[in-house]
Amino acid sequence: MQQESPFIWFNLLYLTLAVSLFFLERARPFEKTWLPNDGQIPADLLHTFFNKGIVQVLVIVGTVFGAAEAFVSESSPIWPSDWPMAAQVVLGLVIAEAGLYCAHRLGHEWGWLWKFHAIHHSAPRLTIINTGRFHFFDTGASIILSQPLLFLVGAPVDIFKWVSAITAFIGILTHCNVEMRFGFLSLIFNTPELHRWHHSKNLDEGNKNYGENLMIFDQLFGTYFRGKYRPPADIGIKEYMPPSFIQQVIHPFKKQKASAPDSIPAE
Ligand SMILES: [Zn+2]
Ligand SMILES: [Zn+2]
Repeated sequence: MQQESPFIWFNLLYLTLAVSLFFLERARPFEKTWLPNDGQIPADLLHTFFNKGIVQVLVIVGTVFGAAEAFVSESSPIWPSDWPMAAQVVLGLVIAEAGLYCAHRLGHEWGWLWKFHAIHHSAPRLTIINTGRFHFFDTGASIILSQPLLFLVGAPVDIFKWVSAITAFIGILTHCNVEMRFGFLSLIFNTPELHRWHHSKNLDEGNKNYGENLMIFDQLFGTYFRGKYRPPADIGIKEYMPPSFIQQVIHPFKKQKASAPDSIPAE
């Protein structure tokens, strides 16, 4: 059962980080007004369990039972298996990021997809609790646009695992309400500072920083934003979002005006 051990370590490390960040949010918050309960904790957690849980179960089932190996060629003619592992992981991150950037940008610029992605942005605060607040359809779009790219280049299963683990760690870090500075790393990686801009109600700031892990495509396509002033505390969306989990899951399928964020009228 050699395959199971990395997952146990991943989950233990992730849990340790989550618990540490939970206490750090109280001891050293970036924004004190984000500490009180916003009434969205049940919805946040249900979204998290619903989509992230399904994803992890699929990954565990796929790798433990060897299903993933069946699809991934051990000797891909394209994948540089002779590179050091760290370099292969970086390559995997860049390739996956191409799809993740594309999915995220489409989620903002294509009204139909925005209806699903709006659930993530409807959170009125940033905290580790809403890291996984995504409509399952939104998560599905990111997976469909990023994972096949890694399959196409013949990335080994270990690279899938590393990319998934790094994405999970960066995800919880970018949503936590902890005062942290990452300096020059914000030029390359997605950091809490950059993602706070992305959640801004001001769309000149919010329709920026689409990178999930790396900022290279934002730098390349002119969507990188790092303000000289403090990221806003007043975040969220201006359109209506129902309060309960079930209503939020159904909401995008209801007949409504598909409004991309740049067409939302001012309050
Ligand atoms: Zn977004
Ligand atoms: Zn976010």
